[in-house]
Amino acid sequence: MREHDRLFIDGDWAAPAGTGTIEVVSPHTEEVVGRVPEGTEADIDAAVAAARRAFDHGPWPRMTPAERAAILGRLAAIYAERQQEMADLITEEMGSPILFSVFGQAAMAQMVLQYYVNLADGYAWEDERAGMLGPVTVTREPVGVVAAIYPWNVPQFTLMLKLAPALLAGCTVVAKPSPEAPLDAYVLAEWIKEAGVPEGVVNIVPAGREVGAYLVAHLDVDKVAFTGSTAAGRRIGAVCGENLRRVTLELGGKSAAIILEDADLAATVEGLKMASLMNNGEACAAQTRILAPRSRYDEVADALAAMVGGLTVGDPADYGTEIGPLVARRQQDRVENYIRIGQDEGAKIITGGLNRPHDRGWYVAPTVFAGVRNDMRIAQEEIFGPVLALIPYEDEDDAVRIANDSAYGLGGSVWTADVDHGVEVARRIRTGSCGVNLYVLDPNTPFGGFKDSGLGRELGPEGLEAYLEHKAIPRPS
Ligand code: NAD
Repeated sequence: MREHDRLFIDGDWAAPAGTGTIEVVSPHTEEVVGRVPEGTEADIDAAVAAARRAFDHGPWPRMTPAERAAILGRLAAIYAERQQEMADLITEEMGSPILFSVFGQAAMAQMVLQYYVNLADGYAWEDERAGMLGPVTVTREPVGVVAAIYPWNVPQFTLMLKLAPALLAGCTVVAKPSPEAPLDAYVLAEWIKEAGVPEGVVNIVPAGREVGAYLVAHLDVDKVAFTGSTAAGRRIGAVCGENLRRVTLELGGKSAAIILEDADLAATVEGLKMASLMNNGEACAAQTRILAPRSRYDEVADALAAMVGGLTVGDPADYGTEIGPLVARRQQDRVENYIRIGQDEGAKIITGGLNRPHDRGWYVAPTVFAGVRNDMRIAQEEIFGPVLALIPYEDEDDAVRIANDSAYGLGGSVWTADVDHGVEVARRIRTGSCGVNLYVLDPNTPFGGFKDSGLGRELGPEGLEAYLEHKAIPRPS
């Protein structure tokens, strides 16, 4: 049981302004495993004021990138040494299968941090230009106070996508974890203190969406970095537009995996375990629309049903588990409701369905629908659970058309024996990333969405740019 009665504000543990608490419930046992204070507007005011002071008067933005990278490097080293603790905690609070927590949550977060530490050296922090009217120095300066708001599904990774580049840039941060998974942020706060990050540079206030909305609208915030649902992203984008605050939005997805005619089916289906069902299907980039050529449709359906039907569903702390419980009863209800919607729309369940695999815990049977048309709700709406829609296509142009026939544009993949041809098909997909014969997020490459999947990019040098203002200083020749 992890009990916290403080918030991380101004470099130390501060008493919250209110008396509310957030209970963190294990999705596996349905028992309370932790408590944290529920942040209020007054706590946000205190956290933003601390971040503002640290930005306007503190050492952090005035250090060189190399000095900041040295401190962040200490944090990365602490993280590397203790990331198992982080992985175990994330599994406990939100139900991610432990193997995914180890590699996809904790190790990925550490890798992102290390990537930005390494980027400090060699990044063009300023450059000299022979302008058309004389010499110009172009500098990159930190954007200011950043509000980082992120979801429960990959809490450390989505936080680190913001925190690492923001801190390297010289920004200060107010992070708002989701109420479902706030515990991991407490561990990170301890490591941040230990690494010697100056006071006020990172502040952490767990809270619900109303308090999150208050943070977004706070006029002492210079930039909002948000990961979450498209619905919330629209509202946040509107507020930032009104206030003329910088904003990046990483939102929902309904990505397609295109199985080409020549694909090795066994390898493809094995690859889809991760690409389509990572993190219990609670992943924005999960490829939950499986596009199969009509000529091989039955064969793909059989292979997919066998793979999904054979997944080990159970205690997420067990290393043999492939699918754990969903984050909350609300999420279980939502996913089961989509299974009903799929049945009502006339799609056919070929494995899984509404029989729960376990009585206790928020489990849903991994499910595949066959006979899905791309205009069905189960093909257009983000379900955020282990539910796949198998959609037939006639030829490659038809596959590309179906993949692109979505309001979203986040991820995707192409499965083929001809990798070069796969790359050509991937180029035609209107999404921020599209893998060939795998799906990974490489810290050195941009990640983000086209269309309703968001605005801007995280990761890579592009992810650092999002925290920098460019400034031109012309002078006489
Ligand atoms: P959500 O939008 O309900 O909440 C996300 C976070 O935003 C939480 O911390 C929440 O408290 C806060 N929030 C919600 N509404 C807000 C508002 N109006 N103003 C300020 N803060 C607000 O999303 P969720 O259900 O927690 O997470 C799942 C969603 O996140 C899915 O849609 C998923 O696709 C998306 N996601 C996207 C990415 C990506 O990189 N594109 C990554 C992970 C998750």
